[in-house]
Amino acid sequence: MYCYIHIPFCNNRCKYCRFTSFSNTQENEKTKYVDFLIENIKNDSLTFEKEKINKKEQFNKFDSIYFWWWTPTSLHNYQLENIILALKTRYWFTKNIEITLESTLNNVSPENLKIWNELWINRLSLGIQTLKSKSLKEIWRLTRKEIIQKLNIIKKYLETNQEITKNKIQNFSISLDFIIWLPFVKPLETKKDIKFILDKYNFVKHISIYMLEEYYDYPKTWKDVSLKENEFEKEYISCKKLLEKYWFFRYELSNFSKKWYECKHNKAYWNHKEVIAYWLWSHWFVNQTRYAYPNNFKDFYENKFDYIEKLNKNDIFLEKVIFWLRTSWLKQDIYKKLNQQKIKYFIKNKLLDFNNYKLILSDKWATLIDYIIKEII
Ligand code: SF4
Repeated sequence: MYCYIHIPFCNNRCKYCRFTSFSNTQENEKTKYVDFLIENIKNDSLTFEKEKINKKEQFNKFDSIYFWWWTPTSLHNYQLENIILALKTRYWFTKNIEITLESTLNNVSPENLKIWNELWINRLSLGIQTLKSKSLKEIWRLTRKEIIQKLNIIKKYLETNQEITKNKIQNFSISLDFIIWLPFVKPLETKKDIKFILDKYNFVKHISIYMLEEYYDYPKTWKDVSLKENEFEKEYISCKKLLEKYWFFRYELSNFSKKWYECKHNKAYWNHKEVIAYWLWSHWFVNQTRYAYPNNFKDFYENKFDYIEKLNKNDIFLEKVIFWLRTSWLKQDIYKKLNQQKIKYFIKNKLLDFNNYKLILSDKWATLIDYIIKEII
């Protein structure tokens, strides 16, 4: 069983952000949110339209808890602790539970690392995005110097607390995010940044590489100082090849990890495992049904849902095609049900490959996944 905790606040706003994150939120608003969340975890007060779910009986143990979007560490540590304690009183945790905390590097300090470890958090996910100074300044992130200082704090902390990686907390690991297509980042510079980090910090076990998408208020001037569209593939493939040299394997288009360090939560989501989620914008997935929470505080505090969607066989099949093609391959019994003409076309044009009766996405065209999927289903 998997659990997702959504924290909709951020310390600062990044210029490229296209999400409705709440930065500079008043303390009382955050307190209200956390108190409401804890109350619901404890009292099971949610009533779903079609069924009341008794979580204690319905679910077994948590294999993972993921504190995510936007910046969970914008809460106080005692608030994070209270959420975890509330979950502990309500659910069982497996012995090897993975608890991931998304954080900005701003919040990394020896004191916080210690507290997070004591809270059983054994996976930190941190956004680097780029090491290019000019770009970092433009997108309102920490400077290169500050990023390196923060990574050195983690390094020192892990070196002086070796039991964290060896015994006490199994598989303690760090995941870093990078973004392709940021302003002022030149071809192959992302690869150079990743190499710099992997050579210096061997505690990094997981890397995610995302593409920045153009959206409604994407700054117009950025287009002229960013990679051209025809350079994306080369950029992505160069990063992938580098990561393979460092024994990171790709387990999803954007996600690479060392062996045993894939993110359990991501994998659960892609494999249609049941996920309990708290709160705003998040989705429960139980009994093949998605329960989506609203994206505004008013409805949320009234315990309303944005929508409830029971997936039928066909919905599950289509999602499997999407998730499996992104993560691994399609077996014969799946791809035979898709548009054969289009599949032949993509194979001929080297967008898809056949390998031992498995249909896989070719590396060269991995960045066109959405288009390919739309055409073959
Ligand atoms: S930390 Fe993430 S969610 Fe928050 S403003 Fe930056 S990009 Fe947006």
